[in-house]
Amino acid sequence: MSLVIPESVRKRLAPTVAQLEPYDPHFTPVEINLSANENSYGLPAVVAAKVADALVFAPTNRYPSALADDLRSALAVRHGVVPERVIVGNGGDELIFNLFLAFGGAGRVLVNCPPTFTVYRTYAELLGLTVVDVDRDESFAVRTEELLEAAHSHSAALTVITSPNNPTGTVMGIDEIDTICGATDGLVLIDQAYIEFANPGYEATALLDAHPNLVILRTFSKAYALAGLRVGYVLASEGVIAALAAVRQPYSVNVLAQAAASTVIACADACASTIARIVAEREALRMRLNDLAHRGLTVFPSEANFLLVRVPEAHRVWERLRDEHSVLVRDFSSAPGLEGCLRVTVGTSRENERLIAGLEAVLG
Ligand SMILES: *Cc1c(COP(=O)(O)O)cnc(C)c1O
Repeated sequence: MSLVIPESVRKRLAPTVAQLEPYDPHFTPVEINLSANENSYGLPAVVAAKVADALVFAPTNRYPSALADDLRSALAVRHGVVPERVIVGNGGDELIFNLFLAFGGAGRVLVNCPPTFTVYRTYAELLGLTVVDVDRDESFAVRTEELLEAAHSHSAALTVITSPNNPTGTVMGIDEIDTICGATDGLVLIDQAYIEFANPGYEATALLDAHPNLVILRTFSKAYALAGLRVGYVLASEGVIAALAAVRQPYSVNVLAQAAASTVIACADACASTIARIVAEREALRMRLNDLAHRGLTVFPSEANFLLVRVPEAHRVWERLRDEHSVLVRDFSSAPGLEGCLRVTVGTSRENERLIAGLEAVLG
């Protein structure tokens, strides 16, 4: 089913949104879905049981705590900051939107580093920001000098860096983030939606005290297996958090989501074993994919729960995986800078086997 805005409606739209189309995740029912970077394992059984209990007792007849007080405090403890430096949102996406809403606006500039998460550009355009792209290099690393030059010359209100980057898996070193925050007047959003899968040492939280312009985004959707409940959070200076609190919709994070996320945080140690398993599966999958090099497949390094691969006739490969093998991955082959690329989420070992079998058959 596709959503169409008829001309009669489109002509009534606000100029800033008149060009937009409804988001289409291109979802097709398949047996093996490795297209959305979800956690295929779900929560460990002991944690899932605790979440179930918490959901049963959640007071759904009451409005939720507007700022998710319990969850906020638990996150503050976890990251060694005061609760005033944490804000919870309805998924990380809502927080990106609110950040751009609070600090963007018509005429302001956002510096973006494609190929990356397309949500930044979409929301920036929706909110009237001008997007200045500083393309990543051929190994998908950020060109830091060019980035700083762009941020200065446009007096950028916001600079966004994703580490690990989606869909490339590339990380940025902490020293480089430190340099960029120190050399930029505007806010620097470091999107760490996948940080739990990266080698320790890439976490930007240690830089928070040094840089009042640093904004870190995290989510429960990937490592913590709660994509369906929509919970993300931002760590930043108290002032930035207060501004985000001012623009947010007061009850956007519902009681069930708050209860589940609080329970998961309390069980973070149990969840760590699943994360370690996904990382091990990623490395095993990388080796298997490397074995397909003689059939023209290239795998890029990744510190996330997915791998970017380049294959000949990528769109056709994507289609045949879906139609002949019921395996759905994400097709990026028509995105600028990602010619021939598919992104495969690391699944369970059984799912990864199905992917490999499909690729072997399709690549011939
Ligand atoms: C998945 C993702 C997010 C946030 O996802 P939510 O489900 O909205 O929390 C943010 N940034 C990137 C790069 C992502 O891939």
